Amino acid sequence: MEGIQVQKHENETIKPLDPEEFRKQGHMVIDFLADYYENVEKYPVRSQVQPGYLRQRLPESAPCEPEPLEEILRDVQKDIVPGITHWQSPNYFAYFPSSGSTAGFLGEMLSTGFNVVGFNWMSSPAATELESIVMDWLGKMLKLPNEFLFSGGGGGVLQGTTCEAILCTVVAARDQMLKKIGRENINKLVVYGSDQTHSALQKAAQIAGINPNNFRAVSTTKADAFGLAAEALRSTIEADIEAGLVPLFLCATIGTTSSTAVDALNPLCEVGKEFGIWVHVDAAYAGSVCICPEFRHFLDGVENADSFSFNAHKWFFSTLDCCCLWVKNPGALVKALSTYPEYLRNKASESKQVVDYKDWQITLSRRFRSLKLWLVLRSYGVDNLRKFLRSHVNMAKNFEGLIAMDKRFEVVVPRNFSTVCFRISPIEIGKNQIITMEEATNNFNSKLLESINESGKIYMTHAVIGGVYVMRFAVGASLTENWHVNLAWKVVQEHANALLNMS
Ligand SMILES: *Cc1c(COP(=O)(O)O)cnc(C)c1O
Repeated sequence: MEGIQVQKHENETIKPLDPEEFRKQGHMVIDFLADYYENVEKYPVRSQVQPGYLRQRLPESAPCEPEPLEEILRDVQKDIVPGITHWQSPNYFAYFPSSGSTAGFLGEMLSTGFNVVGFNWMSSPAATELESIVMDWLGKMLKLPNEFLFSGGGGGVLQGTTCEAILCTVVAARDQMLKKIGRENINKLVVYGSDQTHSALQKAAQIAGINPNNFRAVSTTKADAFGLAAEALRSTIEADIEAGLVPLFLCATIGTTSSTAVDALNPLCEVGKEFGIWVHVDAAYAGSVCICPEFRHFLDGVENADSFSFNAHKWFFSTLDCCCLWVKNPGALVKALSTYPEYLRNKASESKQVVDYKDWQITLSRRFRSLKLWLVLRSYGVDNLRKFLRSHVNMAKNFEGLIAMDKRFEVVVPRNFSTVCFRISPIEIGKNQIITMEEATNNFNSKLLESINESGKIYMTHAVIGGVYVMRFAVGASLTENWHVNLAWKVVQEHANALLNMS
């Protein structure tokens, strides 16, 4: 009896899902975050802590007694915020954006609140059905051909990230091919991208058991603006066939990570078709802006691809994670990825009238991600989303214009979207150096970028494109306005002046 009483007492001390506590504490966290957004510009954009900073600040083990939320939030402010790199800052121009929004956040909140595990239709019909509907909506906004939509025999699914989306498509293509040529030939399969393709492809090939010698990163050139040339792909494929290998998969990119280069889909898909390979189009960053008619031409040719993906968590106002993937032949995904254990058996699945998204992805359990997209689309509307994305492109154009007025700087590759790749030109530096002009220029730009980022005023990252070190100015944070861009340019100039005077 005593034991049971202790048990009862313990259960009364915490109330993990008490509605009143939830309401009160939930409001506190929202207030905390609203204050955070209001003050986000006061923090250095790139976190300035040293490795291991947090262990010095936090206790060695978890508390035995409950602590009040007020105190926990004080510690978030004191100990966590300094270790945050502020992706939501209007002065954040690094990597690609992680564009938050109120609608995206609220959708995430609803999804987390319901906390359903929507692996199959039965486990929460709304989770599956809303996802299919929202993916069709988005597909129409992008003017994807009907074959990618459910009504056309294809369909869309929300994956966590592009890495997962590419892995799923590689695995689908692999199994489709091995069925034809025999499992024992897996070592002959070849996967193609360019030297600008995201490392996600290499990782996918590795996990999918593709022979590491059969991963081709076809060279790109400045003359082709670092896009993958169809002729270079063709000759690589022909050499592989000559060597007795089997071409399997091409990942073409719209908006590469380093320089936002664009692979021309029409000629590449033609080559793909000719050799019977699966063509995936990765538009992780740039896909969003293709909802604007004036950018849609970048997707021309997608009608001949097998799958297409973009990250709504990059530049589409949805919180991480939210990668939108469409395939023409969901059956290929399902064949490669489905299992049907007894404990998941149900009438709806057996009726074959429903989508069971567990068979379209790696994991079984899955989040109700479509709610955040639904909220974003409904709260803002397609017209406003287009306008907002255009405003980012215009800010990047403005930055480009500022660069053009300072002859010490140059834009290194043509800007396609809202990312500008630039540097201090070689003419100004590298005098009296033992190393080559190019090396000196690269070193100088790298030093300049580090000094800018150390200041905490803005944050940019770099890329090396065709041997040239560039600073990347990626516009897309939701709070960024044009005056932030003007100010960012001043910061760049100030740091350049200081470094040039020193050298
Ligand atoms: C960001 C990016 C990826 C990786 O996206 P994840 O969602 O982090 O896996 C892949 N491809 C391109 C072109 C990207 O820009």
